[in-house]
Parts: sequence; structure tokens; C-alpha cells
Amino acid sequence: MSSNSNPGTETTATAQSATEEDEYTSPAKALFRGEIIQSALWPFPQLSSEQTETLGMVVESVDRFLADKQDEFREWDQAGAQPEDFIDELRELGLFGLIIPEEYGGIGLSNAGYSRVLQQSSRHDSSASLTIGAHSSIGMKGLLLFGTDAQKRHYLPRLATGELIAAYCLTEPGSGSDAASIQAKAVKDANGDWLLNGEKIWITNGGIADFFTVFARTDSGGGKLSAFIVEREFPGVSIGQKEDKLGIRASSTTTVSFDNVKIPPENLLGEEGKGFKMAMAILNNGRTGLGGGAVGGMKSCIALASKQAVERKQFGHSISEFGLIKQKIAQITVDCFAAESAVWMIGHYIDSGYADYSIEAAISKVFASEAMCRAANEALQIAAGSGYMKELPYERIFRDSRILTIFEGTSEILRLFIALSGIRDAGRLLQELGAAAEDIFNNPIKGFGLMTDYAGRRITNMTSLGQERIVGAVPDELRDDALVFEKYTLEFGRMTDVLLRRHGKTIVDRQFALQRSADVAIDLFVGLCVLSRVSTMADDGIEQYRQAIEIAHMFSQQAKRRINRSLRAMLRNEDESAKALSDFICEAGGYPWDTYG
Ligand SMILES: Cc1cc2nc3c(=O)[nH]c(=O)nc-3n(C[C@H](O)[C@H](O)[C@H](O)COP(=O)(O)OP(=O)(O)OC[C@H]3O[C@@H](n4cnc5c(N)ncnc54)[C@H](O)[C@@H]3O)c2cc1C
Repeated sequence: MSSNSNPGTETTATAQSATEEDEYTSPAKALFRGEIIQSALWPFPQLSSEQTETLGMVVESVDRFLADKQDEFREWDQAGAQPEDFIDELRELGLFGLIIPEEYGGIGLSNAGYSRVLQQSSRHDSSASLTIGAHSSIGMKGLLLFGTDAQKRHYLPRLATGELIAAYCLTEPGSGSDAASIQAKAVKDANGDWLLNGEKIWITNGGIADFFTVFARTDSGGGKLSAFIVEREFPGVSIGQKEDKLGIRASSTTTVSFDNVKIPPENLLGEEGKGFKMAMAILNNGRTGLGGGAVGGMKSCIALASKQAVERKQFGHSISEFGLIKQKIAQITVDCFAAESAVWMIGHYIDSGYADYSIEAAISKVFASEAMCRAANEALQIAAGSGYMKELPYERIFRDSRILTIFEGTSEILRLFIALSGIRDAGRLLQELGAAAEDIFNNPIKGFGLMTDYAGRRITNMTSLGQERIVGAVPDELRDDALVFEKYTLEFGRMTDVLLRRHGKTIVDRQFALQRSADVAIDLFVGLCVLSRVSTMADDGIEQYRQAIEIAHMFSQQAKRRINRSLRAMLRNEDESAKALSDFICEAGGYPWDTYG
């Protein structure tokens, strides 16, 4: 749930290590080069019929189990805990084994399928969803991705039944976003055991977990981070009091402390010294869980808000007849559809073995979590006074949604990561170009080859000649929308070139520009996912197709306006004034202007 403070300057690892070539096929990174990789976006992915059937059964049982528990969820929110009986029922339903392969006793859902289940549970309650999600998305994901066969045989069957519940321990009092700075330390003793000391804070499932994936600095390998499997039963592990929180109150959040905890050598997870990359890889891989949860929350906001809007009468009319209410409901729907399309696409990238999906996963997390926060706010506004009262679920949904842009990487850190990774990728081509210019005499074939590639890209960026066209992949109704994304992808490629030329390596410190760059990438990638999805709906003849076309039009037009604003602000802005004002206020320690005295 933490992320790196210098995102983009470290390679974010993925389950399979990315080869150079793989990196160039990342569709979101390609956008920074002014390219759309159509084959990575069309056709919109679908599950196999076997997965669809299993998923259908799981979704239905989640619904049946959670649908009539609204009163309990409200009580548990106030009490700040879920009762043990409820956790037992989650166990019985198999919800702790969702992504564990069947050979270890799990249900073996794909990443996309898992995300869909969390979507369903989140429609009912975020805390319930988080208890399941923190276990699978991050708590034991390290074991699935990096564990040895022996480790998997030892732990996975008990993790699948929920006999063991898992938690992910990265954050410390002095180390939040800056995950690389953690201080927990593991030292190898003469017998080869590790002695672990340190304190982890705000650990989801801390109070109910028996299996912890813990990150600590090891003394060998230059004090780099390593990951360990630690059992609650190991002497020296202690769990703090549950935290009293704003939202997701029934989900367990505690400190977890390690005082000379002896860890056997076989509980080192993955390679020693590779802990940071593993920590990031787990978060990347787990992002579809959180994304699915956000989409589920939005669907619940849409259901609540539309019912409320029809039933509530003011000025002699249902408030659903008023333009300002219509606007809110339509916007939440567009955001939900867009987030769902992106989250589903990323699930597919992971399931089909893409080596590098880190930017795409970050984009889906930022977009879905922020869209959910807006949806919760607008749904409450539609319900107004009733929404503010604890009797209805709006205020709980509003409080619960607030965590989404904070944990598993804050929106700020992820935006920096998205922009820096994309710009670095584009910049690598420029660097190669520099080297190629020198190389022309030593290795003319390679040198001229690269020069020609680059020249080709410049020509494409300037004229659109040679650009991969997506207009051919969309139905006629979406032609204009496709042209928007083609045009602005080219403009974005040009802008990335300008940024690189203007700032070089110092781009790392240009956070205002990086944020704008990330925002454009988010709009382009999410918009392309929407177009791909709606194109596929046309093939399927789905009845809500016409409305989906309207959603695609709305998203494209809104994205176009946002992108235009961001691109313009790259050149003309108030960044320096904002920095100076912030420095002044921080120095003053507050707002120094009062209207009296
Ligand atoms: C309810 C809850 C559950 C959690 N569960 C877990 C868990 O299970 N496991 C776990 O390990 N952790 C967990 N966390 C921790 C969570 O991941 C961190 O809170 C998160 O990574 C942010 O760290 P921080 O809160 O220390 O914020 P900080 O890192 O102190 O950041 C403060 C602000 O500064 C911004 N910022 C920081 N660095 C930069 C920068 N370089 N440039 C620009 N802006 C920057 C941030 O975006 C943020 O807005 C949980 C937290 C909460 C609240």
C-alpha cells in the first residue's frame, strides 16, 4: 500500500521480468511516444466460458450472502469491527481462496474475474470487501508471485480456506510513500535464521491475520530490502490496538511489531535484496482488486442515487427531472463505465501474461479511485440532508471511499510514476538516438536504423503519416471519437518530446508538468479502453448499445477539453506563483489574512 517516493526512477517490477521489447509494447507507454498500439486494445477482452461460469456462481453467492446485511454493516461500522462469525462465513464461502489455484484448494479465478468479485462485494460493503481484498490482492500475493513450490504447498491450502488470513506489511512510522526508506531490519544469525526487528503501521487485517508478508532491510547486499513470510505464532510478533478511523471502520487496521522474531531461512520470500521490486510488483498486480472495488462502489452509488432522484419530490416534481440532478447521475455513470473498462482491460493484461502493465495498472487505480470519490460525493449531494444522516448508507460510502486515493500508492505518487515511466520510455529512444549518431560510423546499419526509426516517429508526430489508425476498428458512430484520440495522442507525443528537450533529466523535479502529463495519459488510455469496449458491444448487439455510444461521446468530449487544458498549461501556467505562495504559507504556518483587526 505504499509506493516509491521517486516513482519512475526505479524500475517497477512485474511478475515476469520485462524485456526491452516488452517494455515497448506497453500501450500506455506508447502514448507518450505518440503511438496507439491498437492490437493491445482491440478487441475488448472477454473471459473464457469456463471462467464466466465459475465467476457467475461466485458473484451470485457473494450477492446472496451480503445483500441482506445492510443493518449489520451499519452496526459494525459504528462498532469498528466485524464479528468473528462473519469472518467464518467468509471462510465458508471460499472468499479467501478466490485467486489461489485449484490444486491448492482455491477457486483459481483469473485476475479479471477476481476484480469482478470484489466489485460485487463492494456494492454491499467496503469493509467486507477489504477484508477479502487485502488478503488476496496484497497479503498473500507475494507468495503466489514469488514463492517456492515448498512455500506454496506449506501455506496456500490454509490460506485458501481462510484458516490463515494474510496481511501485507510495508508501511512504517517514518516510511509511507517513500517505501524504500523502511527501517525494519532482518539480520542473519549463525544458524542461518533471520532475526527481525521493527514496527509496521496501519496494516489492513492486522488484527485477524496469521500470515504476514513483511518487508525489511537485510544486512547483506548493501542493506537492500527483502521480503519474509512471518507467522503470527512466531515468538516476538505482537499486534497493536485497532485504529479508530474515518472510513472502512469495520476493517481491521493495526500496528504489527516484531521484536527479535526468529524467521527460518525457508521463509525468505523470493531473492534476498529484491524486496523493493517485489513490494511494487505485488501492488501493481493487486491494483485490479482495488479498481474492481471502486467500480462496485460506483454502481452502488448509481443505484442509490437514481432511486432517490426518482422518489424524492420537490417543487412538485421528482428531482430526477431537474437538469442539475440529471447531470450528476449521467456523470457518475460515464465515470463508472470508463473505470470499469480500464480495470477490466488491466485484468486482461495481467491474465494474458503481459510483462509490463505497471503504468496501465497505476492509471486504472488513479482513475477508478478518484471517480469513486466523486461518485460518493455526488450521490450524497443528490440525497442531500437524508444523505448526511447515518440511517442511510450514503455517508458511510462517502467516508469509506476516501481511503481509495491514499492506500496502495497515493494519487500523487502514482501520477508521478505514470508520467516518469512514460517519459523515460520515450526519452530512452532519444538517448538511443544520441548514441546512434555516434554509432553511424562504427555500426552504420544499427545507427541509420535508429535514426530512420526516430525520423519516422518525428514525421508521424508532425503529420500523422504512418500513425496506426484506430478509426478502422470502431463502428461508424464512434469515428469522430476515434479521431479525437488519434489527434491528441500525436499531440501528446509532441509534448513529451518538448518536455524532454526542454528539461532533460531535471524533468524528475517538474512535478506540475509531470502531473499534467499523467493526466493526459490517463484520459487517453481510459478513453481508448472505452472505445474498444463500446466497439465490441456493437458486435455483440447488446441492447444498451445506443446509451453506451452516448457514454463514449461524453467521455471523448470531456477528455478532449481536459487534455487541451493540460497541454495549454504545459506552456502557460501559474506554477511559479503557486510554489512561491505555498512556501510563504508553510513559512507563515497558516493563513495570515483576516478580515478584521
Ligand atoms: C486505512 C489504511 C490501511 C492501510 N493498509 C496498509 C497495509 O495493509 N499495508 C501497508 O503496508 N500499508 C498500509 N497503509 C499505508 C498506506 O499505504 C500509506 O498511508 C500510503 O502509502 C501513504 O503513506 P503516508 O500515509 O505515510 O503518506 P506520506 O507518504 O507521508 O504522504 C503525505 C502526502 O504527501 C504526498 N507525497 C509524498 N511523497 C511525495 C512526493 N515525492 N511528491 C509529491 N507528493 C508526495 C502524498 O501523496 C500525500 O499526499 C494503510 C493506510 C491506511 C490509512
